[in-house]
Amino acid sequence: MNSGKYPQLEIALNKISSNYKHMEKVCSTYGIAITTIIKGVNGLTKVAESMYKAGSSSFGSSRLHQLKNIKEHLKHIETMLVRIPMITEVEDMVKFVDISLNSEESTLEFINEVCKKNDITHKVILMCDLGDLREGIFELDKIIRVAKRIEFEFENVILYGLGTNLSCLGSIVPTVKNLSRLVNIASSIEENIGRKLQVISGGGTTSLPLVFNGEMPHRINHLRVGEGILLARDLKDYFKLDMRGFYTDTFVLHAEIVEVQIKPSYPIGTMFIDAFGNKPSYEDKGLRKRAIVAVGNQDIGSSTKLISKLHGLDIIGSSSDHVVMDYTDTNVDLKVGDIIDFELYYQALLFLTGSSDVSKVFKY
Ligand SMILES: *Cc1c(COP(=O)(O)O)cnc(C)c1O
Repeated sequence: MNSGKYPQLEIALNKISSNYKHMEKVCSTYGIAITTIIKGVNGLTKVAESMYKAGSSSFGSSRLHQLKNIKEHLKHIETMLVRIPMITEVEDMVKFVDISLNSEESTLEFINEVCKKNDITHKVILMCDLGDLREGIFELDKIIRVAKRIEFEFENVILYGLGTNLSCLGSIVPTVKNLSRLVNIASSIEENIGRKLQVISGGGTTSLPLVFNGEMPHRINHLRVGEGILLARDLKDYFKLDMRGFYTDTFVLHAEIVEVQIKPSYPIGTMFIDAFGNKPSYEDKGLRKRAIVAVGNQDIGSSTKLISKLHGLDIIGSSSDHVVMDYTDTNVDLKVGDIIDFELYYQALLFLTGSSDVSKVFKY
C-alpha cells in the first residue's frame, strides 16, 4: 500500500448517497426496485455503507469476495451475484449470496446439490440473452425448459425471477421492443409454472433512459444499477439525459505534476508503437506547454477516461505511470508540485478504486 499523498482519490460519500436517494425516488415512482451494484468501486465498504444509510438494502457485485465483505459489515442486506457463478465458487456463494444470476443448467444443478447438502435454499434469476450476446439463454424453448426444471425439480433452488443484460458486450441498446420481449418470456414461464415471478430484472444503468422517459415496459420491476448512482456520468454524456439532481463529481482524482516543459507537439524520429502496442497519432501544433502528472494507466486504465475541469487543458496521452497534458490553451501557469483534478468515467473509477497505489480520502 502506498503511504504517499498522491495520486489521491477523493470520494464524496454525501454526494453518492444523494445520488442513490434520487435514483431510488425516480425508479420507485415507476414501481422499480434497485439493487445497488458496487463492483465499479471494487466493493469499497465505506461507499456501500453510505448507500446503505441512504436506504439501499440490496447490493450486487460480480465478485464474491466483495459481497462476502459487505455482508459481514451490513448484516441485514440482500446480496446479489451478478456474474453467473463459477462452479468452484458455488460452495462459498450459497453461504453469503441471497440471489445469483444464472444461465447454465449444470451450474444450477450443482447449486441445488450444495444447498441440499447444507439444508438451505438459494434464489436465482434466470438470465436470457436478448441479443447483446454475453450471458443468458438464447432460445425461448430452452429458457422455458430450464425454468420448469428449477421450479419442479430443483427443490433447494428458488426461481426468483427472469433477467437480462444488455449494452455491456454487444453494445445493444435497451429498448421498449427488446424489454417487452423479456416481459413476454416471463409471462410464458409464469403460464408454465402456474405462478407469478417476483422479479423481472431489465438490466443496469443503460436501461434507465427508458425509466426517465416513462417508457419502461410495465412489468419490469427491478434494475441493477451501478454507474448511474456512483458517477451518473454516462447517462448525461452519452445518452444526453437531463441528469439535474445527480452529482457527477462524486469521485475526483488529484494528481501531482512532476514535469513542466516546453516541447514540440509532434514526436521526433520514426514512429512505431507505444507502450501498449498501439499506434498513436499526433497533430503538429508547434511548440507547446506540456505537463506530466504522476499517475498512469495502471491506476486509471486509460487517460481517455479522465475529465479535466481546467478549461483548455488537453490530455495528450498516457503510459503505465504517466499522463501527459498540453496546457498551452489554459489561462494558468503550472509548475512542478501543483495538483491537477480530474473527474472520471467508469473505467478510471474501476482502476483507481482497485489500485493500492492510490490513496483514498473520504468526504462525509
Ligand atoms: C455490472 C453489471 C450491472 C451494473 O452495471 P452498471 O452499468 O454499472 O449499472 C448489472 N448487471 C450485470 C449483470 C452486471 O454485470
